[in-house]
Parts: sequence; structure tokens; C-alpha cells
Amino acid sequence: MMDYNALAELLFPDVTKTTDYYEQLYPERNLPEGAKVTRFAPSPTGFVHFGGLFPVLVNLYLARQSGGVFYLRIEDTDEKREVAGAEKDIIKAFEQFGIEFDESIVKGGAYGPYRQSERKEIYRTFAKKLVAEGKAYPCFCTKKELDSMRRQQRAKKINFGYYGEYAKCRNLTFDEIKAKIDAGMPFVLRLKSNGSLNNKIKFTDLVRGAIELTENDIDHILLKSNGMPDYHLAHVVDDHLMRTTHVVRGEEWLPSLPYHLQLFGAFGFKPPKYMHIAQLMRLEGNAKKKLSKRDKGAGLTSYLTNGYAPEAVIEYVLTLLNSNFEDWRRANPDAPVSVFPFSIKKMSPSGCLFDPVKLYDVSKNVVARMSAQEVYDRLTKWTAEHDKKFHDVITRDPDYTLSILSIGRGGPKPRKDFGKWDEVKPFIGFFFKEYFKVTDQPEGDFDKADIKTVLEKYLAVYNHADDKDAWFEKVKQIAEETGFCPNVKEFKQNPDGWKGHVGDVSMFIRLAVTGRLNAPDLYTVMQILGEDECRRRLKKHIATL
Ligand code: GLU
Repeated sequence: MMDYNALAELLFPDVTKTTDYYEQLYPERNLPEGAKVTRFAPSPTGFVHFGGLFPVLVNLYLARQSGGVFYLRIEDTDEKREVAGAEKDIIKAFEQFGIEFDESIVKGGAYGPYRQSERKEIYRTFAKKLVAEGKAYPCFCTKKELDSMRRQQRAKKINFGYYGEYAKCRNLTFDEIKAKIDAGMPFVLRLKSNGSLNNKIKFTDLVRGAIELTENDIDHILLKSNGMPDYHLAHVVDDHLMRTTHVVRGEEWLPSLPYHLQLFGAFGFKPPKYMHIAQLMRLEGNAKKKLSKRDKGAGLTSYLTNGYAPEAVIEYVLTLLNSNFEDWRRANPDAPVSVFPFSIKKMSPSGCLFDPVKLYDVSKNVVARMSAQEVYDRLTKWTAEHDKKFHDVITRDPDYTLSILSIGRGGPKPRKDFGKWDEVKPFIGFFFKEYFKVTDQPEGDFDKADIKTVLEKYLAVYNHADDKDAWFEKVKQIAEETGFCPNVKEFKQNPDGWKGHVGDVSMFIRLAVTGRLNAPDLYTVMQILGEDECRRRLKKHIATL
């Protein structure tokens, strides 16, 4: 009979702490009953993908709504797949989205370190315990031997992996192991799996409901030959010691679940509750494809670079995550999303489709609900980085810009002029001399001389102090004097009897003052532009006719 304690000492002479030490160092969290501890655990293998917002938001809501904790853990155990700068990008991306972690590599916390590469000693301590209990063993098989095993399995058309008769090192004696260690042979540590493909495990996923999965029969690697843990061991040890109650992650992890549950069992830990959420799909032609890290433009922050407000992107993702979000938003147009009663029950287990048109629409609504000051703050932040010239123009006189951004804002039906910040310049540029230019032509067939007469008459009676009614009376008056019908209804009954109608008269003024056929309410625009500028533009336009 193998002396497993002796084996543990032989394999881990460097490990002097016990698992009890860590259990005490990271005690159960002192949280109210029902509080959920959740985490986002990205590997720094590339930029943060748009789909990453899904698990992040679910984790965030579960923690916040229950008075729990949401932390960030960097899973960097796979040095080969690591991408330089990825960790910084992760931190920056969530900062830009205003998503705050309670504990992280930046903030620290009592359950850290929050970077797996700094927890090597912890994993080794727990691995040593498995060895001491006869649940793990060293494997000295070389790459060549493993390749040959694989070839045999392929030829026999059987499952790949280190199991059953292929698990050659599983039954090595203590002396055999000692001889190899003494000879300096490198080894990995493997789990002595007690699972069988004939057995099923029953499991309840929080979004998918009851699931049956086949047990794991593979003696997976727990520690690599460099002593670093394999991802799966790190997940189990960390989520136990960091006292995670709920693991929300992508569905690609579902096949690993039997192994994870087996590891929790081997350690005698209570597993967390799991939720595996469907991956985001996109349409390519008629085919649905997974949105992957390789997709250009799928990076989370590229939506911000392209001019979306982070709030808009978050709100769009919530429409996909919870089927009742849009009803809630209609009933609570001004509430912050943080108070949305997020519910796991309202999540769909099937994949959702990324719809850029919907994102744009949601964004228009989100921006329409913002105050002028909020729009100003976000817009100037974006222009500072992406359109310096426009930035300088709109920040020259913030009150002026704020009055422009206030047009049509604040009422029950706010204007929905922009979905993205890059749409603001073309829309409000005419308010600034740098961008003002008459780009449109009158709609309809009009004599230049008539337009000129209309504008000259208008200039003669224009009084900036007029209120809106007085202003419109004057426009009607000019219409009457110049052969344009002052009443549109009347005009429609006899269009040939007139040169046009009062709407055309305002169009001439609008063109002269804004340069465009479509602009917000003309009276308001003129009030903001100011008398001098309006007169200057009218005169200048008359000179071109
Ligand atoms: N590091 C894993 C990933 O990036 C996390 C899996 C998990 O959340 O358990 O996908």
C-alpha cells in the first residue's frame, strides 16, 4: 500500500503550508443572508470582446441586487496564450463602461492576490493535499509517449485522453516514482479520476434548468511540469477560497463542468451555483455565426471609439439579457439601469443575435433621455480623443453649446437626433462659423428673384425680441405680400393659384440661416444663433441670389 503522505512530501518538498492555513486566511465572507459573490474571470489572451459584457452584467446585477460582492480575477495561468497589454485593456475597458469591481488586481481585497500567476503556492498546497489523500499522482509520460497513445486511440476510434489502460503512470509504485524524481525527470500532476462514462451526473444550471452530463473519466492534468496549475484546478481552488457563490460564464465551459464538479468533490468543497450563458451570434448573410475574438470590430471598446455612449451599449445588452427590460424602460424612462430588477428567470437559454440596427436605435433613445449637460460631458470626452477640431469649437463657449444641445430635450417626447457622437457634428455644425455652409437647395421650383424678395422683406421686419407667435405672424405676412399662401390647407385646394405656401417661406429663411433643409425648430435656432449672426447669414445669402 502506497504511503501517500510520503509521496506528497516527495513531490512537494517546497510546500510547507497546509490547506487549513488558507481556509483560515480566506474565511467565509461576512455577508448578509442570500448575498451573492460573483466574479468575472477573463484570461488575458486578447482584447475584451463585446460578448464579455453579458456575463459581466449578469454577475454585476446578481451581486449588487443581493448586497454581495463582484470581483475581477485575472486567469493568466497559460503563459503561452497570453497577449501583452491584454490585462491593461481589460481594466481600461471596464473603467470606460463605468463597471466597478469590488475587488481586483487594481483595488486589491482580502481574498487576493487576484492574478492567478501570483497564487501558485496556493494551488500547489491544494494539489499536495490531493496527493496525500491518494487522489492525484505524478505522470512522467513524455510528449512522444502521449502522441503514440493518441495515435492508438485514433486507430481504435476511441476517446482521446489519459484514462483506463492508457493511464500508464497511475499505478507506479513509490520506489518507481522516487527513482524518476531522483533522476530529475519532469512530471505533471494528474487527477486520479474515479468517474465512468457509464454514469451520469444530474445538475441544475440557473438558466438552463436540469441537465444530465456524463461523468469525467480522464485523469486530467492538475499541475503542469512548470508547477503552474491547469485552468480547471485554479478555477476550483480560487472560487472556493474566494468564496464565490455564483459562477456565470459562457456556455463553452459546460462540457468541462463534470470535471469541475468532480474536483470540488475531491476536495470536499461545496460547489458554487453555475449559470452558463449562450454565446452572442451575428448574422453573416443568412448564417448565424458566433461572435468571436477574431472578429474585427467585436472589441468592446471599439463601440466607444465608434461613438457610442457606454450607457447605450449597456442598455442594448440588457435588452438581450432580460426579455422584460424594454417594458421596464418604457414604464421607467428616467430610472438608472442600476435599479432595473434583473431576473434570472427572464433570461433566455438560447443564443441571442447581435443586431447593430437595434443597438443604434436603443442608443438614440438613451441619448435622447440624457440632459444637455450629460450629452455635453460625454460628447466632449469623445471629441477630445477623436475629433480635436470639433472639440475645440464646441468647448469654446460651453453655454452656447449647451443651449444647442438643449433643443428639443427634456419634454415627454425628446428629439432623437443622434445615436453616435460622430453624428453630432453634421447635425449641429451649422451653429458654428467653422462649419456653417449652405449645402442644400430649395425643395421645389422657385424663382431666385422671389426667394430674394422674401428674404429682403424678412430682413426688414426681423426683430430678434419677437416671441414665437409674433415671429410666425411676420412670416405669414411676408408670404401674403409675396404671392405665397399663408395657409397650407388653403394652398392645397388651389396650388396653381400661388407661388408656394408659408412653409416654403420658412424654408428660404431656414436655408439662409442653417444652410440646410432639415434643422431643428427655426425660431429656436435663430434665438440661439443670435441677432447679429442671423442678420449676417441672411444678408450673405441674399447676395448669392
Ligand atoms: N478564464 C476563463 C475564460 O476566460 C473563465 C472561465 C470561467 O469563468 O470560469 O473564459
